[in-house]
Amino acid sequence: MDLRSFIGKPEVRRGRSVDFEIARDLFENPGKTLLFQDVPGYKFDVVGNVITCRDDVYQALGTNREDYIEYVTQRSQNPVEPVVIDSGACQEEECSLSDIPVIRHFEKDGGRYITSGIVVAKDPEYGCNVSIHRMLVRDDGRIGIRIVPRHLRSFMDRAEARGEDLEIAIAIGVDPRVFYAASYSPRQGYDEFSFAGAIMDGPLELVKCRTVDIEVPAHAEFVIEGRILAGLREPEGPFADVTGTYDRVRDEPVIEVTKVTHRRGAVYQALLPASIEHRLFMGMPREPGIYSAVSEVAEVKYACLTNGGKNWLHGVVSLSKTPDDVKSVIEHAFEGHKSMKHVVIVNDDIDIFNSDEIEYAISTRFQAHRDTYVYRNMRGSTLDPSTDEDGLTTKVGIDATIPPGREPEYEFAKIPGPKV
Ligand code: MN
Repeated sequence: MDLRSFIGKPEVRRGRSVDFEIARDLFENPGKTLLFQDVPGYKFDVVGNVITCRDDVYQALGTNREDYIEYVTQRSQNPVEPVVIDSGACQEEECSLSDIPVIRHFEKDGGRYITSGIVVAKDPEYGCNVSIHRMLVRDDGRIGIRIVPRHLRSFMDRAEARGEDLEIAIAIGVDPRVFYAASYSPRQGYDEFSFAGAIMDGPLELVKCRTVDIEVPAHAEFVIEGRILAGLREPEGPFADVTGTYDRVRDEPVIEVTKVTHRRGAVYQALLPASIEHRLFMGMPREPGIYSAVSEVAEVKYACLTNGGKNWLHGVVSLSKTPDDVKSVIEHAFEGHKSMKHVVIVNDDIDIFNSDEIEYAISTRFQAHRDTYVYRNMRGSTLDPSTDEDGLTTKVGIDATIPPGREPEYEFAKIPGPKV
């Protein structure tokens, strides 16, 4: 139930600075989990690239490529409530915010960013919410936090309307299943910790924070307690995000830290923006949503967000049976993941994890005048630098399926005789 059990045998690097050096090592070794010891100026170690490929995520969740979507969907329908225990490793010791070796990633980033923290908050009506945000460690000991209009944003808006700060806790270095659950983002009011319990085959253990009325995973490496200050906004950014380009500066909320606790010998988890680890944790939890949205109108085999689209902007859906109305398949796919900009629909003989096969389907089964569906002035991802200034984007659906009834014309040529 902790991060440490998942780290395995990392390669050790010594003496790397939190300013760019750790980030560069992680960037240059995307397939390796790295442990940084003797970080100049800090007593804590840093670990990064804990997840290095899709199979790592499947393995952490206890599933595989074939069963993933059904497995996650089924688990999400059977939540397991967390339990609060009396004491937890995450509160063994205390330190200050400046003791944590938060790293600086990219040249023009606005500062050192916490990227692996799960933010826990409560609302009188909706209960507990857990979500992931980028957080800028400011020199004055406060933390800037980018909050897009989702569940935490609504908790904060509602607290501000009552004239109150919003108590929160940030848990850094948690079990990858807990991190996945926080990324999954189920409906408002569904406690992500209950989803974590469902994928862990048992309740997640939580402990009460010391200065705020919030519970956090007992086995987290670090816990930062604090409050999002009502009414205060300060510039946050730039920040190189999932696309590897800089997201602009905006006025965003500010957290005042009230306490920092940690495990004995805590390890700080660095999650490099735009890395495969970051992209998989953003994109993979969206795939079941695309699958289920499209399932309302077609028989779906698989849905994925592709590497080339940074596992966020491009989707591919394969259908076991092509309906007459592929337009509706495309529109449901966009509904299933609001940040998706382009989606390609293919037959289930295409391996949607293989970009060559997707390109093959487009090159031989698609006619632009007939099979292109264009949607202008749509809300898309703010992380796509090609969107208009008002944040609007054009979405395109590509029907690269064989038209029903014309399968014989698309028959793959075979060579007769026994396999050698
Ligand atoms: Mn939520």
